[in-house]
Amino acid sequence: MATTLSERDLQVIWHPYTQMQTAPAPIGIVRGEGASLYDEEGNRYIDATSSWWVNIHGHAHPYIAQQLAAQALQLQHCIFAGYTHPTAVTLAEKLLPILPGRQSRVFYSDNGSTAVEVALKMALQYWHNKGVQQRKKILAFHHSYHGDTFGAMSVSSRSVFTAPFDELLFDVHFIDTPSADNITALKATIQSLGTDAIAAIIFEPLLQGAGGMLMYEASALDQLLSWCQEQQILLIADEILTGFGRTGKNFAMENVATPPDMICLSKGLTGGAMALGITTCTAAIYEAFLSENKLKTLFHGHSFTANPLACSVALASLDLFLDPNCAQQRQRVQAQHEAFIQRLSASSAVKQIRLLGTILAFEIVTPGQDTYTNQLADELHRFFRQKRIMLRPLGNTLYILAPYCITDKELGEVYGAIMEFLERY
Ligand SMILES: *Cc1c(COP(=O)(O)O)cnc(C)c1O
Repeated sequence: MATTLSERDLQVIWHPYTQMQTAPAPIGIVRGEGASLYDEEGNRYIDATSSWWVNIHGHAHPYIAQQLAAQALQLQHCIFAGYTHPTAVTLAEKLLPILPGRQSRVFYSDNGSTAVEVALKMALQYWHNKGVQQRKKILAFHHSYHGDTFGAMSVSSRSVFTAPFDELLFDVHFIDTPSADNITALKATIQSLGTDAIAAIIFEPLLQGAGGMLMYEASALDQLLSWCQEQQILLIADEILTGFGRTGKNFAMENVATPPDMICLSKGLTGGAMALGITTCTAAIYEAFLSENKLKTLFHGHSFTANPLACSVALASLDLFLDPNCAQQRQRVQAQHEAFIQRLSASSAVKQIRLLGTILAFEIVTPGQDTYTNQLADELHRFFRQKRIMLRPLGNTLYILAPYCITDKELGEVYGAIMEFLERY
């Protein structure tokens, strides 16, 4: 008889991104508080990857819980076509003015991948509605990751994640991320595709997360985007990971002067407590869908569009996010990482140490290749699991991406475990 949560799980569950035959049994988590999670035996784990990059204010935050409970007693869900409700409207009113690039409309969905799907459909149908038939190509960067549904996979770099489906994904033109040296070459590449055949470019500003926590320069991105904008290529900023303070500023696009036409948000949007996705766009995009002609409608919607519970949680998270205390916490985490880099860089086992806001990443030197399937990942995973620190390497890339409320003491434990691994390695 299965008795523990973990044993019961093994009978009935299929986990994401998990080779079920070889993966160790999952740890049953029953409670969270701050940057910590507790298993069924009461052991504490430090959540150093923010539960897959979503948590920003800590687990089971009382303010978020209160707002959610109040909303649950008021209105839990309601169709969002033909009807509206206060939390969806208030969230849009509060969010639009703080987003980069004069965003004028909010379109709700359930998660990051759907937010990307919506942006892609908005971009393609924008040109369709305008009667511009030739703009159908999409540009994206090598090493990009925009989600796991088919459209989102199509605009993600081809990789081990997409391999079984590659032939079925629509064609996307992948270019290198911009740097001071390659801007001219990138423009030439785009020109060779025919700039007036390109509908949009989708990009993760400054930080390519799942592609390996790769960081690139804001100034080079700005040069590329401003040139794309001159060519009327629509700019889709995927801020699903970078939004809500991850990279230092509130949104990564605040580092870039060129305003995006669309922004995708999820993950930290609800503080990581509930599933919600948002795609925003400028007035120009929105207006291309206004018509007496029903065929110009954006025919897209999910059953749980603008779920009031999720919107109330996003509103609560936004209150916490806009409190000056949140920016202070982010600065503190960054300063701690900076000090740790001094220690880390003394180790000959690490290379390419990089820091962006609250995210610290580096590669561990291995005989194998620097790829997602690097064998070291399993070893790292096992080591940190045993230390009760939740770190989930991308191949031989190790990174810390913790809730902003993580204490200096907890960070010290994470750093200590990393140093211990490196010393033994
Ligand atoms: C996680 C992520 C997505 C996909 O979001 P899901 O909610 O997991 O579907 C898309 N883009 C980026 C940059 C992400 O990090």
